[in-house]
Amino acid sequence: MTFFLILLTILLIQFKDVLRLSQVDNTFYDFYMKLALPVSAPDPNIALVVIDDGSLQQLGYWPWRRAEHSHLLEHLDQAKAVGFDILFQDHNPAYPQDDLTFANAIQKHGRVVLPTIVRLNGSTSSVDQPVAPLADSAAELGFINIYPDPDGSVRRIILTASDGEKTYSHLIPAMLQAGGETKIANKLLSTTPSEYMINFSGPPDHYPTYPYSAIANGLVPPEEFKDRYVLVGAWSSGLGDYYPTPRSWEDRTSMAGVEILANALSNARTNNWIKPLPTWLVITLNIIPIYLVCLILIRFSPRKAFLTTTALWLCLVGLDWALLQFLEFWLPISSSLVVMMLAYPAWHWRSQETVLRHINHELSVLSAQDSALRLALEAKAPTETLPARLSFLHRGIELLREAQQRREQTLRFISHDMRAPQNSILALVSLQRSGEQALDETQLLSKIESYASNTLELVNNFMDLARAEAMEIEFHDVNLGDVMADVYDDAWSRAKTKHIDVELHIPDEQLYVHGNATMLRRTFSNLVDNAIKYSSINTTVHCTLTHEDNYAVVSIKDQGWGIPDHLQPTIFQAFNRAHSTAEDAPIGSGIGLAFVQTVVQRHRGYITLESEEGKGSTFTVKLPISEETEEETVE
Ligand code: ADP
Repeated sequence: MTFFLILLTILLIQFKDVLRLSQVDNTFYDFYMKLALPVSAPDPNIALVVIDDGSLQQLGYWPWRRAEHSHLLEHLDQAKAVGFDILFQDHNPAYPQDDLTFANAIQKHGRVVLPTIVRLNGSTSSVDQPVAPLADSAAELGFINIYPDPDGSVRRIILTASDGEKTYSHLIPAMLQAGGETKIANKLLSTTPSEYMINFSGPPDHYPTYPYSAIANGLVPPEEFKDRYVLVGAWSSGLGDYYPTPRSWEDRTSMAGVEILANALSNARTNNWIKPLPTWLVITLNIIPIYLVCLILIRFSPRKAFLTTTALWLCLVGLDWALLQFLEFWLPISSSLVVMMLAYPAWHWRSQETVLRHINHELSVLSAQDSALRLALEAKAPTETLPARLSFLHRGIELLREAQQRREQTLRFISHDMRAPQNSILALVSLQRSGEQALDETQLLSKIESYASNTLELVNNFMDLARAEAMEIEFHDVNLGDVMADVYDDAWSRAKTKHIDVELHIPDEQLYVHGNATMLRRTFSNLVDNAIKYSSINTTVHCTLTHEDNYAVVSIKDQGWGIPDHLQPTIFQAFNRAHSTAEDAPIGSGIGLAFVQTVVQRHRGYITLESEEGKGSTFTVKLPISEETEEETVE
C-alpha cells in the first residue's frame, strides 16, 4: 500500500498539468500570496510613466502622434533606461515625419528599449518588430509576450524564447542591457529554464506612477528619473492590458501589464524571484508526508490515525506557506495533499479486506472441524459486501456458540445419562452381595441386561449422531420407494407387538434422491419407531411418499400423543424430550430427532413437524429429487 501510494504521488506530480492538479497548486499559491502581508515597498529604482485617463484628456485620444514620445524622452534623459510597453508596429500615414523624429529622439537618448511580439510556431518563429527607423535606433529590442496560467492569472514570466535556432530576449533583460547591468542580463539570458515566478511586491496599483502628460508638460523635474528604469505603458480604463495576479485583492482584481513588468524587472535586478524547487526535491518533499501517513496508519488506531493524518495535512499546508513566506521557495504539494486524503480510505479498505479474508479463512478452518458451520458455509457462501460478510461472521459465531452449548450438553449427557445405568448395575450388585432384598437370578440378569442394553443404545445413538454430523458421506442415487419399503419391513414386528397398523403409500413413479441409502433408512426408521413408540395401541401410522415440485416428500403421520406446542421449536435439538417425565415414558435418549435433522440437512432437504397434543404428529421430510428421476420422468 505504501509503495502504491508513493507511486501514485509521483505519477500525480508528473501528470499534474493533464490532471489539472496545477490549478490546485495555483489556488494554494494565490492563497499564500494573499497571506504574505505586509506587502513590501515598490522598487525605488523603477518608475512607471503611465498613459492614464488624465493624460488622454490632456493630450487627446489614443493613438498619439509619435512626435509626442520624443518630447517625453527629452524629459527622461537622466533615466538609466526607458522601456516602452507600447507597440509601434505600423506607420502613421497622416504624420510620416513623426517616425523619424521619434527615431532621432530614441537614438539621441541611447538607452531606449522597444517592444516586440514573438510568435513561436514549433521550429519556426516570427517577430513583430517596431517600424524600421524606430527598431534601428533602439538600444535594445525585447519581447513583451505574457503567458497567463490556464485560470487567466499571471504568476510567471518567460525571459527568453527560442525556436531552436534563434533566441529572443524579453524586454526586461533588454532593459538591463540598455541600463548597463549587462552581467545580470546575461545571467538571465543564459539560465534555463527561463521561466521565473514573479514575486509581486504588492497588489495592483502598488507602484507609484507618473502621468505621461505631467512629464511631457515638464511638470516633473528630470532629476526625478535619475538612474532609474522607466517603463512607459498604458494605465487607462479603456487602454492596455490588464491581468489578474496572485496579489489581486477583491476590489483591485487586475494589474496593468506595465506594473507586472515593473515587478518582474525589480525581481530580476535583486534576484528575489519566487524560486521553484528542482523536480527531484519536489518529488522527495511530496513523498515524505505520504510515508509518514503510512507509518501513522500502521501504528495508530483508526480514530487516532484520522486525527493525526488531518493534523499532518494542515501542517504540510502551513509548512508550504512558511517556505514561500520566509524563504521564497515554491513547493507545489497538491499531489501529496490529494494522496494524503486518499490514503486513509484506501488504507482502511485494504486492511478491512485483509481482516475479512482472514476471518473467512478462520471460518473455513473452523467449518472443516465443525459440521454445523460447514453446512452454513455450504448453504450461504459469503458475498462481497461488508454487511453480508459481517452477518456471515455473526452467524458463524452463533453457530460456534451453539456448538459449544452442544458440547456442554454432551458432557452433561455423558456424566448423567450414561453413568446412571452403570450406577444402577453397581447398586444391584451390592444389594445382591449384602443378601438383603436379593433378587432371584432371572430377575437380576434381566435387570442388568436392560441397564446394559440401554447404555449400549445410548452410546450407539450418540455415535450415530456424531458420525452424521462429521463424517464424509458417500452419495449415490437412491430409490426412495425401496428405502421406504425396507423401513416398513423393519418396523412391522414392533408395530404388531403394540397392535399398531403401519400403512405404506408409495407412488407408481420411481423417485430418486442423491443420498446415502443407509443413513436415509435409519432416518426414516427413527421417525417410524418414534411414531410407534409415542402412540397408544390400536392406532395407525401412515408412511407416505409423494412428489412435489423438485422434491420427494416423505411424511410419517401417527395418531399418538403429539408434542406440546411450546416444545415443538426445540424438539430437534439433541437431548430434548417431550414425554420423559410421564410414568410410562418409553426409554429414550433424545438423540434420534437430532440425528434425523442432521441427515436431512446434509442431503440438502428440510424437515417440518405438525403436531397437536393428544391427536398425533406428522413429520414431513422434503429431499431434492436427483437427475435420475427427472430423466426417467422425461422418458
Ligand atoms: P427419544 O425418542 O430417544 O426420546 P428422539 O430425539 O427420537 O428421542 O425424540 C425426542 C422427543 O420427541 C421424544 O422424547 C418424544 O418426546 C418426542 N417425539 C418424537 N417423535 C414423536 C412422535 N411421533 N409423537 C410424539 N412425540 C414424539
